[in-house]
Amino acid sequence: MNSLNPSILKKLKFVVGEKGWLDDSNDMAPYLSDERNLFHGKTNIILKPQNSAEVAKIVKICAQEKIGIVPQGGNTGYCGGSIPNPNGLEVVISLARLNRIREINTINNTMTVEAGCILSDIQTKAKESNKLFPLSLGAEGSCQIGGNLATNAGGTQVLHYGNARDLVLGLEVILPDGQLLNMLRALRKNNTGYDLKHLFLGSEGTLGIITAAVIKLFPLPKQVITSIVALPNSSAAVSLLTNLQSKIVGSITSFEFFNRSSLELVIEHISNARDPFVKPYDTYVLLEISSSQSKQNIKGSLENQLSEKLDEGCVLDAVIADSGEQCKKLWKLRESIPEAQKCAGGCIKHDVSVPISRIAEFISLTSKLAKKEIKGVRVIAFGHIGDGNIHFNLTQPLNIKNDDFLSHTLPLSTKIHEIAMKLGGSFSAEHGIGILKKHELKRFKSLVEQDLMELVKDAIDPENIMNPDKVVTVKPKPHLLD
Ligand code: FAD
Repeated sequence: MNSLNPSILKKLKFVVGEKGWLDDSNDMAPYLSDERNLFHGKTNIILKPQNSAEVAKIVKICAQEKIGIVPQGGNTGYCGGSIPNPNGLEVVISLARLNRIREINTINNTMTVEAGCILSDIQTKAKESNKLFPLSLGAEGSCQIGGNLATNAGGTQVLHYGNARDLVLGLEVILPDGQLLNMLRALRKNNTGYDLKHLFLGSEGTLGIITAAVIKLFPLPKQVITSIVALPNSSAAVSLLTNLQSKIVGSITSFEFFNRSSLELVIEHISNARDPFVKPYDTYVLLEISSSQSKQNIKGSLENQLSEKLDEGCVLDAVIADSGEQCKKLWKLRESIPEAQKCAGGCIKHDVSVPISRIAEFISLTSKLAKKEIKGVRVIAFGHIGDGNIHFNLTQPLNIKNDDFLSHTLPLSTKIHEIAMKLGGSFSAEHGIGILKKHELKRFKSLVEQDLMELVKDAIDPENIMNPDKVVTVKPKPHLLD
């Protein structure tokens, strides 16, 4: 492995102090491979600054020395964006110690948080003030808000509250030259030129390091009911959504889909997971209805709608949680799908979106294709159907060796992404690009969009030190080729 100059390493260590760095290979190991164990990087040092000023000083040194920087949050990302290059010449900045909540303002309905705050800690803090921070995803116990904003994370409440991008009012960012860009405003209206924060939201650490944010809070719902509905097919799931949207009392805050194979995998591999119904069904939807008013009869309204649909044969069965405990059990069935897949062997994953009206078509076309190409493959289709976002995953059949199965990844994913694009969709709905999907970005984004993305990258990070080689490919500059 290449080594960075010892005098530079000394300077970096001095900035963060004794507790602010790791260089032992065992200590660094968890920071150097990704959630899915697809990417493995190397580095001489992991830096763990404890405030924005320290981040700025590190970035200034790296800018002077033209050293690549990889920002890292909870390292739960699915596209390899938080893992350094295997050449060992980049430094990793973990934001874990920037974990203070700077302010909660219940009149403005805002919270000012540092980048390293764990998402579930933010949710808990908001709840303690009788407020809701609605961003919610399976990795919320370990992902950090900085990582959520850098990936513009989605999750289970997008249908009602929007993506991470929609939950931000202000941002503090360290730019690639080490300047601190303070946009920590708590304003809901501010039309004063380009809204620069949106450049950094979803940029996966390629334009700067997010060190803090002003996020939006919402009233804590007075009532939430959770139900799992069994349906004949995915088309019926979409119809149910449309129907409930116009008829239900309260708001639909989640509308999550999973197919029978997903549920079977969970029942097989996750302890205490049980089928909520006595019979198997093709398709399930986990839905959540919320209301900020305690007197609204949201349960009665849902029961009425579901029984009408049962009579029409569009809904086949339904269970409504009657306690907090049961609600957790229902959510566990949906949220354990990624964990169950890990236990079931090799997995080929897709995180695509299509217009909601084309979901059934997408699932039908891709399932037929996958089953034709790999005999016995298990189609694990689940996701945020209310946002048109399907995790169309394929699990290794029992009779095929892992390597043989995974050799199908590129050819099959190429075709599956093409189907999503043809239906007016996206090849990456919520997980981003990182390293994993760079080739698809080249294939599917128009040249005009790619050129603009490169221009933005070049304008903000002309020396290409901020998470180099992730998301966009920057053409080498003549002076850097010497
Ligand atoms: P990391 O993985 O550490 O980093 C992700 C990217 O952001 C990298 O490019 C990194 O360089 C950059 N980055 C991190 N912190 C900063 C910062 N402070 N400033 C600048 N750049 C930074 N994602 C969804 O969108 N929806 C889901 O429903 C969802 N469910 C998941 C369920 C499970 C079980 C798992 C394991 C993952 C899931 N994910 C989901 C993916 C992942 O959790 C999200 O992408 C999350 O937002 C990443 O946050 P992180 O802190 O782990 O970031």
